[in-house]
Amino acid sequence: KAKDQGRNAFQFYTTDMNIAVERRLAIEREIRQALRFGQFVLYYQPFVDFSSGKIVGAEALLRWNHPERGLVSPGEFIPVAEESGLIVPLGRWVLKTACFQARAIQKALQRDFTVSVNISARQLSEPDFLQLLEACLRESGLAPSSLELEVTESTLMEDVSRVIPMLEQLRQKGCGLAIDDFGTGYSSLSYLKRLPINSLKVDRSFVQDLPDDEEDKAITSLVVAMAKSLHYKVIVEGVESPEQHAFLTTCGCHLGQGYFYSRPVPLDQFMRLVQADARMSQ
Ligand code: C2E
Ligand code: MG
Ligand code: MG
Ligand code: MG
Repeated sequence: KAKDQGRNAFQFYTTDMNIAVERRLAIEREIRQALRFGQFVLYYQPFVDFSSGKIVGAEALLRWNHPERGLVSPGEFIPVAEESGLIVPLGRWVLKTACFQARAIQKALQRDFTVSVNISARQLSEPDFLQLLEACLRESGLAPSSLELEVTESTLMEDVSRVIPMLEQLRQKGCGLAIDDFGTGYSSLSYLKRLPINSLKVDRSFVQDLPDDEEDKAITSLVVAMAKSLHYKVIVEGVESPEQHAFLTTCGCHLGQGYFYSRPVPLDQFMRLVQADARMSQ
């Protein structure tokens, strides 16, 4: 009897697994098609300077304009893209598109403007990543200093000894490098000192309960003070309320990003936003 149950349980398990595998394969197939048919788009979310209140840059965030499911968030397909290796061609498309669009924003504004692009661990370990980066900059005419690459804390800590030399080469090219989602991984402070980064993005989870939560207040103030004394630029993610904005301003953060300023929006809408922002401060 126990044997029967065991067998049934096993059958149930394999069917479940088959469904999961099938689903993943279907998504992989769909991602390949989406790349071919141009269904991916970049949305932009502004970085706002706390001292001037002006938009100084933006993060490019990937969206999938799915013919049936509508706009799909990266959380739903980036993990599959990473596991399958499809993140490599997808990331290539993101980097190239972001460089060209950043250059277009600069031309429209007639001033410097920084665009930030998320890079996954898998992309960084591609032997030709540096060549890809150079090609994207050269073809688009974007200055390396106008491009910032965001790498999550967990990506950095995965293989520190191999990642550091790679990051050093990127920095030598003149690109900015940011640690994304800071505070959610396991980076030790001794590594932080060694990393050739120039910005640090404080994770949204620390901002969520500000300014009421005393512990989060203490943590954010401390992280900001530490980052500043290490001469990193501090960007705070997930600013949603005027109270959070006010608290973070007193903390001395450099840049804020969040729904309080704007949600991520398509390029044409972002252009209007940034142009209106530029006019307002003239
Ligand atoms: P991330 O790089 O930490 O990006 C910030 C995420 O927080 C974005 O989610 C953004 O829409 C969201 N966000 C911004 N402000 C607020 C706020 O005030 N409140 C709340 N609740 N959320 C806010 P999104 O666009 O869904 O992206 C999720 C993650 O997917 C990104 O996290 C990033 O890790 C990844 N991702 C996005 N685009 C790319 C890409 O082109 N390549 C790679 N490798 N990963 C990407
Ligand atoms: Mg990011
Ligand atoms: Mg982040
Ligand atoms: Mg995040």
